[in-house]
Amino acid sequence: MDIPLADLKVQYTTIKREVDDAIQSVIDETAFVKGRYVKAFEESFAKKNGVNHCVGVANGTDAIYISLRALGIGKGDEVITTAFSWISTAETIQQTGASPVFVDIHPDTYNIDVSKIEERITLKTKAILPVHLYGQPADMAPIVDICERYDLKLIEDSAQAHFAEYNGQMVGNLGDAATFSFYPGKNLGAYGDGGAVVTNDDKLAETVRRIANHGALGKHDHEIGGVNSRLDGIQAAVLSVKLKYIDQWNDDRLKNAKIYNEALSGIGDIETPGIHPAVKHIFHVYTIRTSRRDPLCDFLSENGISTGIHYPVAMPFLPPFKELGYTSEKLPVASDYQNRILSLPMYPELTEDQIQHVCDLIKTFFRKR
Ligand SMILES: *Cc1c(COP(=O)(O)O)cnc(C)c1O
Repeated sequence: MDIPLADLKVQYTTIKREVDDAIQSVIDETAFVKGRYVKAFEESFAKKNGVNHCVGVANGTDAIYISLRALGIGKGDEVITTAFSWISTAETIQQTGASPVFVDIHPDTYNIDVSKIEERITLKTKAILPVHLYGQPADMAPIVDICERYDLKLIEDSAQAHFAEYNGQMVGNLGDAATFSFYPGKNLGAYGDGGAVVTNDDKLAETVRRIANHGALGKHDHEIGGVNSRLDGIQAAVLSVKLKYIDQWNDDRLKNAKIYNEALSGIGDIETPGIHPAVKHIFHVYTIRTSRRDPLCDFLSENGISTGIHYPVAMPFLPPFKELGYTSEKLPVASDYQNRILSLPMYPELTEDQIQHVCDLIKTFFRKR
């Protein structure tokens, strides 16, 4: 039985008619850029997140870059973020001219260790950019408190956490702005690239919209320098269809994670992901830890099971950030975890039999040693 890490095709088959019709309507109306499909999606995404504004942009990376710029972050500033994320999180800080300041992750959650933030604040610090990694919200209450005490901006990188919750509040409501990615493999994925910024701040929403559209709200009204970063009509139409199913899909991921956790408990030296009682984790990826990561990965691959590593190298150790001089002594958890993590197949349509099959293979692997 071959099992992929994620399966976008199986999901498409369940909504094919609706998606095909939606795409055809955009083409019939030539509503390719901007237009009513984008507007309708922005409205429903904002409403479902419980926020006042949503601005669609070209991808989740631009969503972060544009938010940072709209909040006035630029040359000479510092932005505190987690050591462990997809490169976009730190890359966009550099794009603004600011410098990322990396904080190690908490060993239980993979998210920024809030107890290590304050010691990194300087006079140059302008913002904190936590990531809700793997679909689990960062520990936001202490972060909100720090931002208030030091007058810092707060941007949630929610690319992996659509509709995840923290203390009963949805992500996207906890800072000045939150950014989302609709990359096809994300929990809410388009059929191409897409992204969004959400905020409750009217002025900020307007600035984000301006920057994303060449600095203009209307035609030729270029007040500031901007970029060309818009959500397109076809992606918006697909996303509007998928928005109807996202809660069910997120619940199915959580259910699958619980089956994995139960089946993998006590096997070899495997550590399964904890599910904190105060959060709703939506399991964008399901990641275990083991000291035998590489041989386990090879064994699963030989048996038709695809796995992933999110991420093989912590951001501060990637070439674009090398000059900042981070060492593994400074970031002990992230540098240890990068060598031990392994993501197993995770998607809503994964069946219990498939999960059991993966777990049986893992048991076989550890029994052989
Ligand atoms: C996917 C992702 C992004 C970037 O989104 P794109 O749409 O691929 O540009 C940013 N941050 C995190 C944490 C992500 O997982």
